[in-house]
Amino acid sequence: MAHVESAHLVELALRNATPTDADAEALRHVEQCDRCRDELRMLTRVVAAARTAQLVDLPTAPPDRVWQRISRDVSGPPATPRPPAPAPAPGRRVLLALLALAAAAGIAVAHRHLHERAKRVQRGVVRQGRIARFEVLHTAGDE
Ligand SMILES: [Zn+2]
Repeated sequence: MAHVESAHLVELALRNATPTDADAEALRHVEQCDRCRDELRMLTRVVAAARTAQLVDLPTAPPDRVWQRISRDVSGPPATPRPPAPAPAPGRRVLLALLALAAAAGIAVAHRHLHERAKRVQRGVVRQGRIARFEVLHTAGDE
Protein backbone atom coordinates (compact mmCIF):
# COMPACT_ATOMS: atom_id res chain seq x y z
CA MET A 1 0.00 0.00 0.00
CA ALA A 2 1.21 3.52 -0.78
CA HIS A 3 1.72 5.98 2.05
CA VAL A 4 -1.44 7.41 3.60
CA GLU A 5 -2.42 10.78 2.08
CA SER A 6 -1.75 13.78 4.33
CA ALA A 7 -5.43 14.75 4.19
CA HIS A 8 -6.39 11.29 5.43
CA LEU A 9 -3.81 11.48 8.22
CA VAL A 10 -5.31 14.84 9.26
CA GLU A 11 -8.77 13.23 9.38
CA LEU A 12 -7.38 10.39 11.46
CA ALA A 13 -5.74 12.89 13.82
CA LEU A 14 -8.97 14.91 14.11
CA ARG A 15 -11.08 11.77 14.81
CA ASN A 16 -14.25 13.68 13.99
CA ALA A 17 -15.87 11.10 11.74
CA THR A 18 -17.00 7.55 12.38
CA PRO A 19 -14.10 5.24 11.40
CA THR A 20 -14.47 3.65 7.97
CA ASP A 21 -12.90 0.61 6.35
CA ALA A 22 -10.47 2.99 4.63
CA ASP A 23 -9.48 4.34 8.06
CA ALA A 24 -8.84 0.82 9.36
CA GLU A 25 -6.72 0.05 6.30
CA ALA A 26 -4.80 3.32 6.74
CA LEU A 27 -4.20 2.59 10.42
CA ARG A 28 -2.87 -0.88 9.54
CA HIS A 29 -0.41 0.82 7.19
CA VAL A 30 0.49 3.42 9.85
CA GLU A 31 1.36 0.62 12.31
CA GLN A 32 3.97 -0.71 9.89
CA CYS A 33 5.26 2.53 8.33
CA ASP A 34 7.62 4.76 10.33
CA ARG A 35 7.03 7.75 8.08
CA CYS A 36 3.23 7.69 8.31
CA ARG A 37 3.33 6.83 12.03
CA ASP A 38 5.59 9.82 12.75
CA GLU A 39 3.39 12.10 10.68
CA LEU A 40 0.19 10.90 12.39
CA ARG A 41 1.80 11.26 15.85
CA MET A 42 2.89 14.82 15.06
CA LEU A 43 -0.53 15.73 13.61
CA THR A 44 -2.26 14.31 16.68
CA ARG A 45 -0.13 16.59 18.87
CA VAL A 46 -0.95 19.60 16.68
CA VAL A 47 -4.68 18.80 16.87
CA ALA A 48 -4.49 18.52 20.67
CA ALA A 49 -2.69 21.88 20.85
CA ALA A 50 -5.17 23.51 18.46
CA ARG A 51 -8.16 22.21 20.42
CA THR A 52 -6.87 23.74 23.63
CA ALA A 53 -5.99 27.09 22.01
CA GLN A 54 -7.79 30.07 23.48
CA LEU A 55 -8.29 33.59 22.22
CA VAL A 56 -5.91 34.75 24.95
CA ASP A 57 -3.22 32.72 23.18
CA LEU A 58 -3.23 35.33 20.43
CA PRO A 59 -0.60 38.05 21.02
CA THR A 60 -3.20 40.79 20.46
CA ALA A 61 -6.86 40.80 19.54
CA PRO A 62 -7.21 41.23 15.77
CA PRO A 63 -9.19 44.28 14.60
CA ASP A 64 -12.87 43.92 13.63
CA ARG A 65 -12.15 44.08 9.91
CA VAL A 66 -10.03 40.91 10.25
CA TRP A 67 -12.92 39.05 11.86
CA GLN A 68 -15.29 40.37 9.18
CA ARG A 69 -12.94 39.18 6.45
CA ILE A 70 -12.60 35.75 8.08
CA SER A 71 -16.38 35.46 8.31
CA ARG A 72 -16.76 36.48 4.69
CA ASP A 73 -14.04 34.09 3.50
CA VAL A 74 -15.42 31.18 5.48
CA SER A 75 -19.03 31.68 4.41
CA GLY A 76 -18.53 32.39 0.69
CA PRO A 77 -16.89 30.54 -2.20
CA PRO A 78 -13.67 31.96 -3.62
CA ALA A 79 -14.23 34.68 -6.20
CA THR A 80 -12.13 33.02 -8.90
CA PRO A 81 -11.25 29.35 -9.22
CA ARG A 82 -7.59 28.70 -8.64
CA PRO A 83 -5.52 26.67 -11.08
CA PRO A 84 -4.62 23.25 -9.72
CA ALA A 85 -1.49 23.38 -7.61
CA PRO A 86 1.41 21.10 -8.50
CA ALA A 87 1.76 18.07 -6.24
CA PRO A 88 3.78 19.06 -3.17
CA ALA A 89 7.12 17.44 -2.51
CA PRO A 90 6.95 14.79 0.23
CA GLY A 91 8.80 17.06 2.67
CA ARG A 92 6.12 19.71 2.25
CA ARG A 93 3.22 17.36 3.10
CA VAL A 94 3.68 17.90 6.82
CA LEU A 95 4.00 21.66 6.44
CA LEU A 96 0.84 21.86 4.32
CA ALA A 97 -1.05 19.72 6.81
CA LEU A 98 0.18 21.94 9.65
CA LEU A 99 -0.91 25.05 7.79
CA ALA A 100 -4.34 23.53 7.21
CA LEU A 101 -4.63 22.66 10.89
CA ALA A 102 -3.42 26.11 11.93
CA ALA A 103 -6.03 27.68 9.67
CA ALA A 104 -8.71 25.40 11.11
CA ALA A 105 -7.64 26.27 14.63
CA GLY A 106 -7.66 29.98 13.78
CA ILE A 107 -11.15 29.71 12.32
CA ALA A 108 -12.32 27.84 15.41
CA VAL A 109 -10.89 30.52 17.70
CA ALA A 110 -12.34 33.26 15.49
CA HIS A 111 -15.73 31.55 15.48
CA ARG A 112 -15.66 31.25 19.27
CA HIS A 113 -14.66 34.92 19.55
CA LEU A 114 -17.43 36.04 17.18
CA HIS A 115 -19.99 33.90 19.01
CA GLU A 116 -18.99 35.35 22.39
CA ARG A 117 -18.92 38.86 20.95
CA ALA A 118 -22.41 38.37 19.48
CA LYS A 119 -23.67 37.30 22.90
CA ARG A 120 -22.12 40.42 24.49
CA VAL A 121 -23.67 42.62 21.77
CA GLN A 122 -27.06 41.03 22.47
CA ARG A 123 -26.64 41.85 26.14
CA GLY A 124 -25.68 45.41 25.22
CA VAL A 125 -22.20 45.12 26.69
CA VAL A 126 -20.43 45.88 23.40
CA ARG A 127 -21.48 48.72 21.12
CA GLN A 128 -19.77 48.51 17.77
CA GLY A 129 -18.27 51.77 16.55
CA ARG A 130 -20.08 51.53 13.24
CA ILE A 131 -23.50 51.26 14.92
CA ALA A 132 -22.67 54.13 17.26
CA ARG A 133 -21.62 56.33 14.30
CA PHE A 134 -24.79 55.34 12.41
CA GLU A 135 -26.90 56.44 15.37
CA VAL A 136 -24.95 59.70 15.70
CA LEU A 137 -25.51 60.49 12.03
CA HIS A 138 -29.23 59.75 12.28
CA THR A 139 -29.57 61.74 15.45
CA ALA A 140 -27.80 64.69 13.79
CA GLY A 141 -30.03 64.38 10.71
CA ASP A 142 -33.21 64.48 12.78
CA GLU A 143 -32.43 67.92 14.19
ZN1 LIG B 1 3.52 5.12 4.96
